[in-house]
Amino acid sequence: MGAPETPRGRVLQTAGGAYTVEVNGVPRECSLRGRIKLDKSIGRVAVGDVVEIEELDDGSCVISGVLPRNNKISRRRTGSGREQVIAANADRLAAVFAVVRPEPAFSLLDRFLVLAEANEIPAFVVANKLDIAGDEEARRKFGLYEEIGYEVLYTSTKLPANIDVLGEHLAGHVTLFVGPSGVGKSSLLNALQPGLGLRVGELSQALQRGKHTTVGACLHPLDVGGYVVDTPGLGTMEFSEVGEARLDSCFREFRTYLDQCRFDDCAHVHEPGCGVVEAVSAGEIARSRYESYVGILGERE
Ligand code: GDP
Ligand code: ZN
Repeated sequence: MGAPETPRGRVLQTAGGAYTVEVNGVPRECSLRGRIKLDKSIGRVAVGDVVEIEELDDGSCVISGVLPRNNKISRRRTGSGREQVIAANADRLAAVFAVVRPEPAFSLLDRFLVLAEANEIPAFVVANKLDIAGDEEARRKFGLYEEIGYEVLYTSTKLPANIDVLGEHLAGHVTLFVGPSGVGKSSLLNALQPGLGLRVGELSQALQRGKHTTVGACLHPLDVGGYVVDTPGLGTMEFSEVGEARLDSCFREFRTYLDQCRFDDCAHVHEPGCGVVEAVSAGEIARSRYESYVGILGERE
């Protein structure tokens, strides 16, 4: 006979010292056992963490252990150097943009894709508001991303068939749902699952509080299985944390050219004999993507 299993749950939200943990499908408020607070190897318990919980005699709940993370999305505050984990255990990233209203900011899309590549999280693109743009414009704007190997889902909250396809992509995964405000993230999730509790315009309001306000991430359980992770703040805040990964290889279409550079440590900017720069000149790498690369590179230095 095995030892009785400690109940496990997933952290949906954190606020100060309070944690909302989904246990057997039910959200429960938990606190942290003191011993865990001190465990340096874990750091802080984050949204998305799978935790062990214990129910105390008085009916309250404590988190008594944290399971090893598969990954974490984090950023480091400049100056303090302290790592802030935004979310743990995400296994998908959906970068959501509108085809129009607002016009897509492709430099931000490229940043999201770098974030995904650097953390080895498979990413796909959602191009929303197809109803007010049309196929041709949508593919003209987002076709590049299909060419370099990302799946692009063209959606509209007004086209139920596309919402079903989105649901299939989210089912069973923990998906970071990122994108600027106003592109329809809340609307899409509400169309997928009425009653998810996301108010249209909610994220925008949170962002208007100020660029430097930290708004915590939040996991929403899906009826189709899995979770979407709201990451307010990632839509506008600067994040250039790529960790140990090489920035150039986070641009996946650069990879085939990297061994054509004359210098092993080529930054692909001013160096002679650069395979990436040559590919840009030859039209094999899109200039917009190269400019995003140079932009992020400049911030890292
Ligand atoms: P979020 O900030 O990304 O969560 O965006 P919202 O879901 O709040 O949507 C912003 C605005 O765009 C709202 O007025 C929505 O009604 C509208 N919207 C969202 N999706 C669509 C769409 O597919 N088509 C059209 N025409 N409008 C949309
Ligand atoms: Zn180079």
